[in-house]
Amino acid sequence: MSNYDVIIVGAGFAGATVAQQCAEKGRKVLIIEKRKHIGGNAYDYMLDGIDVHAYGPHIFHTNNKEAFEYLKRFGDFYPYEHRVLGHIQDKLVPIPFNLKSIELCFAGKIADELKEVLIKEYGMGNKVPIMELRKNNNPQVHMLADFIFENVFKYYTMKQWGLKAEEIDPAVTARVPVNVSYDDRYFNDQYQYMPLNGYTALFEEMLKDDNIDILLNTDAKDHIDLDLDKGKIYYRGKEFIGKLVYTGALDELLDYKLGELPYRSLDLVLEKHQGTFQKAATENYPGNIETYPYTRITEYKLFKETYPQDYTYTHTEYPLAYKRDGEKGNIPYYPIFTNENDKKYKAYVNELKNFHNLYLLGRLAEYHYYNMDAIIAKALGLVCKL
Ligand SMILES: Cc1cc2nc3c(=O)[nH]c(=O)nc-3n(C[C@H](O)[C@H](O)[C@H](O)COP(=O)(O)OP(=O)(O)OC[C@H]3O[C@@H](n4cnc5c(N)ncnc54)[C@H](O)[C@@H]3O)c2cc1C
Repeated sequence: MSNYDVIIVGAGFAGATVAQQCAEKGRKVLIIEKRKHIGGNAYDYMLDGIDVHAYGPHIFHTNNKEAFEYLKRFGDFYPYEHRVLGHIQDKLVPIPFNLKSIELCFAGKIADELKEVLIKEYGMGNKVPIMELRKNNNPQVHMLADFIFENVFKYYTMKQWGLKAEEIDPAVTARVPVNVSYDDRYFNDQYQYMPLNGYTALFEEMLKDDNIDILLNTDAKDHIDLDLDKGKIYYRGKEFIGKLVYTGALDELLDYKLGELPYRSLDLVLEKHQGTFQKAATENYPGNIETYPYTRITEYKLFKETYPQDYTYTHTEYPLAYKRDGEKGNIPYYPIFTNENDKKYKAYVNELKNFHNLYLLGRLAEYHYYNMDAIIAKALGLVCKL
């Protein structure tokens, strides 16, 4: 038998939060992480004095005070409000689309009329999902809605999810509103901050408890076996009667016995440039795939007010299908929500019905997209249960 009370697979926000909380309560914790670093997809590192997010840009924003207060225990944060510009018809336009975007995309008199009718229909300060705007019968609003859908949402969504135009689920685009105001912030949450010394430093602080052991470069599959019929967990060949918190992919854990759970992935291309590359920290390219085969470019130094002047680093995001053995796209990033995939996921969960000490947590294990704050909150909730 091992002397661990809790074994956690994965050192992302899900695993690290559970580990920190259990260790603080005096439990002996082992984290098994197959990557060579902690931090999961939020892992970042310094490159020539610039904080680069290895798996794509991560911006902390939340309305969950508890999650933010929890994270603040492990490092300082600075206020940061994310703003995005989109390359639309050779102009740089604020996204979410707002009254300023209308002024930039339409000539003076037409822009004035469009703003006026939008304010009259929905009220100044409100946010309208694009699909709701498209249902409006007012011809001017309708024209505007079609313009925004075509130029901001349609091709971006197609590229991101690998879909044809007719396959786009209205629910996907409904989440991104059009702002009937001059508010050009990408997020509206009450707390919008970035960790002063980066995410990895937060993780180091979270996991420094003597009660936590971490095995990096280690695939849990090499050490953990499950007896599905008896509901027993084995760690290095011996029965483990503590709690196992699993934050990896469920199909992988169960050897893909019911088939693969599909994901979208990204090919993130890191480039160094002279000077400063772009105007906003993130610029979107919502044009069609032939014009722009990528969705967005993030310039990391623009997350901070002071940064090196003479060089810069960017990540360009090329979405692609996840392929576990692929040279590119071999990281499962975004679960793909369809009824069929949901059914398959639930069938996988059902395979684990005999276990009383195995807990699934996180974006992979739950096959659900969570923001960082949401997964921290979920992890804190699980610890109460444990
Ligand atoms: C491109 C991108 C941008 C994002 N931007 C934001 C943002 O701006 N703001 C925000 O709030 N959220 C953002 N997110 C979401 C954020 O990344 C997640 O909320 C967070 O990663 C969830 O943490 P997790 O612990 O569930 O998963 P992960 O961070 O993926 O951690 C899981 C860990 O488990 C390990 N693992 C898996 N299987 C095994 C195994 N068999 N053995 C050992 N280890 C294993 C993995 O290596 C990984 O380190 C973004 C996500 C992506 C993909």
